[in-house]
Amino acid sequence: MRIAYPLPLRPPVQRWRAWWRLLPRCLIRLPLPLAVELLGGRLEQHHANPARAVEADRLGCTVYLFKLLGGEPHQHRLIVPSLLRPGLCHGPEYISKRNPESSSRPLDRRISIGYHYLQSRETDMATETTTRPTCSECGADAIRWGKDRSGNQRWHCRPCSRTWTDLPARPLGTMRLPVERATLVLSLLVEGSSIRAAEWVTGHHRDTIMRLLALVGGKCEALLDRLMRNVELKDVQADEIWTFCKMKQKTKNRLGVTDPEAGDAYTFIAIDRDTKLIPAWALGKRDTLTTDVFVERLERAVAGRFQLTTDGFNAYPGSVGYHLGTRTDYATLVKEYGTEGTEEERRYSPPRIIGMETTIIHGQPDRDRICTSHVERQNLTVRMNMRRFTRLTNSFSKKWANLRAALALHFAHYNLCRMHSAIRMTPAMKAGVTRAPWSLAELIAVA
Ligand SMILES: [Zn+2]
Repeated sequence: MRIAYPLPLRPPVQRWRAWWRLLPRCLIRLPLPLAVELLGGRLEQHHANPARAVEADRLGCTVYLFKLLGGEPHQHRLIVPSLLRPGLCHGPEYISKRNPESSSRPLDRRISIGYHYLQSRETDMATETTTRPTCSECGADAIRWGKDRSGNQRWHCRPCSRTWTDLPARPLGTMRLPVERATLVLSLLVEGSSIRAAEWVTGHHRDTIMRLLALVGGKCEALLDRLMRNVELKDVQADEIWTFCKMKQKTKNRLGVTDPEAGDAYTFIAIDRDTKLIPAWALGKRDTLTTDVFVERLERAVAGRFQLTTDGFNAYPGSVGYHLGTRTDYATLVKEYGTEGTEEERRYSPPRIIGMETTIIHGQPDRDRICTSHVERQNLTVRMNMRRFTRLTNSFSKKWANLRAALALHFAHYNLCRMHSAIRMTPAMKAGVTRAPWSLAELIAVA
């Protein structure tokens, strides 16, 4: 598919130093992340997402920038990450020290200049908007109207006498914790530190850390729910991972505790084999109810027809048949484990697999791809990255809501922030949900 260029193309730029002067106004006025987003969307039109390319085209500017950058089609993937990562680019000072004509990689230099230029424009834009806002009621220019007691600028609209304050964005709501400190705490938590360890390292009280986790976890859950819609995946595997809340099931039964949140807690996880994306998860007991919630989320998250493999848990066939019946090629894989060895060996080492039984439930799944290994590997990631999931220790969840928040944070971080070594990008990028890896700060801000 080829879309007509939205702007008349000028002849190739001879003097690369001046290329940015030819940037169309519309692109210059965009904030940098949006410009990059458009650039990515437009450049990948031939092989990725036509809808996004059309959307980029409507705003019309990206091809022009790309032409000015002087890139070839095969360099698309080079350009977008370079623009996204300022650390990889050299600044203009660096270039002026060397003879630009002698370099064999002029494209890199143009990108770096482009990056710095767009970035400086973005700062200009930011100051422009803060110095002269318009009234949201009548659209007239506002005038300065003193400051409030926290030093925030106040504004006044002459025509309609409205007065308002520029309040700084507060991604953490009423929490007083600065965002940088929150990022530090969360970066410890997503790497598998316990709440106490995070308390000792950062100096923030464990109750603050818990409140932060609950807040960000809730936002992450909503964010994942928004983002994981109609993603095109081909080969999904699902499994459940066991943990417990408050006390183990055995203790609960022995003491006759009736609290529904105590005892076993299972996390249902679906993962796509190729993109490594986790499109759906659910926390609950290992029963029909949770399975139903989980499969319904999976149904919403994945677009079109796909292959599904689960373990032999008997609630799956009914739920999958009900929610996903005609859309899946569904098979189960039951692994049989050996029981040899002493108690110690069985407890500390994984058991040996002595047999596997695959059953096709419906559709025509590809036999070679009936597999649950990838989701089992994800179970390890969960146990490694959340302290409360480590077995044979005394770290465990005491409160259901916090367990749920920790899981949501883990899955959001895994999908959006963590570079997966097998695919060399984040799973969300591979699946086409996002275009760049997110930092934790962005996750806090966006969620
Ligand atoms: Zn007004």
